[in-house]
Amino acid sequence: MEEIPFNRPRLVGTEHRYIDEALATGKISGNGVFGRRCASWLRDKVGASAAMITPSCTAALEMSGILGRLEPGDEVIVPAFTFVSTANAFALRGAVPVFVDIDEATLNIDPGAIERAITKRTRAIVVVHYAGIACDMDAIMAIASRHGLIVIEDAAHALPAWYGDRPLGSIGHLSTFSFHETKNLQCGEGGALLVNDPELVQRAEIVQEKGTNRSRFFRGEVDKYTWLDIGSSYLLSEVGAAFLWAQIEYADAITAERVGIWERYYEAFAELEDAGLVRRPVVPAECRHSGHLFYLLLPSADERDDFIRDLRRAGVHSVFHYLPLNLSPGGRRFGREPERPVVTESVSDRLVRLPLWSGLGEERTEQVVDAVRSVVTSGALRR
Ligand SMILES: *Cc1c(COP(=O)(O)O)cnc(C)c1O
Repeated sequence: MEEIPFNRPRLVGTEHRYIDEALATGKISGNGVFGRRCASWLRDKVGASAAMITPSCTAALEMSGILGRLEPGDEVIVPAFTFVSTANAFALRGAVPVFVDIDEATLNIDPGAIERAITKRTRAIVVVHYAGIACDMDAIMAIASRHGLIVIEDAAHALPAWYGDRPLGSIGHLSTFSFHETKNLQCGEGGALLVNDPELVQRAEIVQEKGTNRSRFFRGEVDKYTWLDIGSSYLLSEVGAAFLWAQIEYADAITAERVGIWERYYEAFAELEDAGLVRRPVVPAECRHSGHLFYLLLPSADERDDFIRDLRRAGVHSVFHYLPLNLSPGGRRFGREPERPVVTESVSDRLVRLPLWSGLGEERTEQVVDAVRSVVTSGALRR
């Protein structure tokens, strides 16, 4: 029997057609027909002042660091439990990532820990909506406004997802999305920056275009373009944007399929949770998630490692997730931790993600369910 992979990037079938259309326009650099189409879809979907399609979520986070006017020694509060780019993008500006712990239930940044980490040098808070489940945004925005901080949502897992009736990515001053092949919508490598603060829109366009006002020039608003500010090349080529447009047309179907698999896992493992063998994700009542990932927490690191090994023997590839950034060599060198993030360190040891992808299908989903049940139960019997 063929192993069930952890992820398989979904192709919707129209990618080639749109890439051919892009090639036929004779203009395949950034912000062409498809780039603009993807950006306006995203802007409308999330409800932002502006959206920019970028080469990656990492690039969009770097743009946020520039737009936040971060300077060497400024502090940026980030969760210890996240992908490297959430912190690295700000270390690139010379800012200090300050690692804070996550909430035990949602695995999202803990507002109490944010508050305790604020100093005179704090400039920004970066939040990550882990698994597409919203952070406690009301509490976080209140802290930010009390201290005059900007909030950046790393919404790489959260397209589309909601906090009450607000789409994630619409709440902070800036937000970022990823179209990496592991994400819900993908074009291999790609991302987006959403600008919710209207005062940052013009500068964001300049930062994306190497520090120039080329965007205004292309719109005929100025008769030549010139260097105005710092920036870089933060554009996705039309080849990628055409691919992404194909995916966007299937966004609703892809989300529904992923959420369906997530819900099947969730109900299938209720008994294991009741028996104290695993813990399932916690979704607060006000949150609607994206079906981006499904995780289980095992009681200990050893049990998690045995689980991954035994599940693989049963033909299912499952994987762990983030290592605590505060413990990484880069985190030690560039960042600091005001308090030891004990929840992060424990969760990182005990978390496992199950296969969840568009195209997994009912039969394979049931195979995963059966394999997980039998591995968890026999693991518990061995102990
Ligand atoms: C995937 C991911 C990123 C990086 O996305 P890229 O598009 O690969 O740069 C950043 N943050 C989080 C939370 C992610 O999951």
